Amino acid sequence: MSHVFHRLPKQTLPVAVSGDGIELIDAAGKRYIDACGGAAVSCLGHGHPRVVAALTRQAQQLAYAHTSFFTTQVAEELADWLSARAPQGLDHVYFVSGGSEAVEAALKLARQYFVERGETSRRHIIARRQSYHGNTLGALAIGGNAWRREPFLPLLIEAHHVSPCYAYREQRADETEEAFAQRLADELEQKILQLGPETVAAFVAETVVGATAGAVPPVREYFKKIRAVCDRYGVLLILDEVMSGMGRTGYLFACTEDGIAPDLLTIAKGLGGGYQPIGATLVNDRIYRTIVDGSGFFQHGHTYIGHATACAAALEVQHVIEEDRLLDNVRARGEQLRTLLRERHASHPHVGDIRGRGLFIGVELVADRETKQAFEPGLKLHARIKREAMAHGLMVYPMGGTIDGVHGDHVLLAPPFICSESDIERIVERFDRAL
Ligand code: PMP
Repeated sequence: MSHVFHRLPKQTLPVAVSGDGIELIDAAGKRYIDACGGAAVSCLGHGHPRVVAALTRQAQQLAYAHTSFFTTQVAEELADWLSARAPQGLDHVYFVSGGSEAVEAALKLARQYFVERGETSRRHIIARRQSYHGNTLGALAIGGNAWRREPFLPLLIEAHHVSPCYAYREQRADETEEAFAQRLADELEQKILQLGPETVAAFVAETVVGATAGAVPPVREYFKKIRAVCDRYGVLLILDEVMSGMGRTGYLFACTEDGIAPDLLTIAKGLGGGYQPIGATLVNDRIYRTIVDGSGFFQHGHTYIGHATACAAALEVQHVIEEDRLLDNVRARGEQLRTLLRERHASHPHVGDIRGRGLFIGVELVADRETKQAFEPGLKLHARIKREAMAHGLMVYPMGGTIDGVHGDHVLLAPPFICSESDIERIVERFDRAL
């Protein structure tokens, strides 16, 4: 009887014992192609010798120094590296240990920024119905999944939700992308006006939606219009790139492709590539200065912020990606993967949509392609595909959810950035069999 309190206590999971490039190997010696990087985490695959060496060096030199006593060279270097490449103005890096913590930090920074300015009524957070921002109580409060929130009501934050930018289901047949984006920006504006702009602190969105619906990218112009609405009412824009950031879409920061910079940006998963738990909240100078010149104290902190081995792993992961020009590969292999999936499934009766950016690709499954009618939630089709894929030696990330009464089964493919052309072919072949 296992003493680990597993998240899925009723399932018997295989025991992972080692990793080798894009594959994981279990105790029985079976190999699985990691076509989802766990949950879009393992961007460099497993056992990368340079990262292992960097981790070892750092552990030997210094593993941990508490941030109320010291900073470390490696944390400073990683922060420099990130801020030199971040969207304009995001010069300050607040390290944490994962995605939920990064979101908590962003929410509290937004609130504290207004408190420091004497605007204490700005406490509402607006998010989108199709979203996942983490499982801690603050992040959970803003996430779109009602069923995740319900057991824990009432939550700490008063969050409000608007429509997602979900073209496959929400863009009307007679509507251009531009008109669709405008309609969504108008909806956000109406929500701000309804709440009263003087009560709204921030709007939060995933740049490309990940864990709730399988890599849903925004339509062009969406974020430009959203940015304009936020600016009009002094509302901060928080982009959550915990899943879609750090090169996953073929750009280091996904929002670069949308031509905007948020006020706060969260990253995690691909930052450390799974070699160490690490996340960060990137903060613009205006927010940073307000807090530094105000109380001079950010009321948020964790024991492991800026952990030295975590920073060393992340720095080396990012150096490898840059030096090996892996983002070029992400774009090329992503294109190959989407094209192959579309060719294979052009007439598949249950593949409704194939979408995404870079190596961040979602497949939406439907009972009826014409009407886009979803499968019955009770079928848990996404979970069955995960099981089938595992049987065929393939890891894909499944998700099922309901937005405004419409259920959907989605599968996320997010293979490591080091995938070759033939790796992508093997992934598609196994995915086909599972499907
Ligand atoms: N935000 C997004 C967009 C995520 O996808 C996730 C994790 N799936 C989180 C936040 C939470 O990250 P973590 O699981 O590391 O706490």
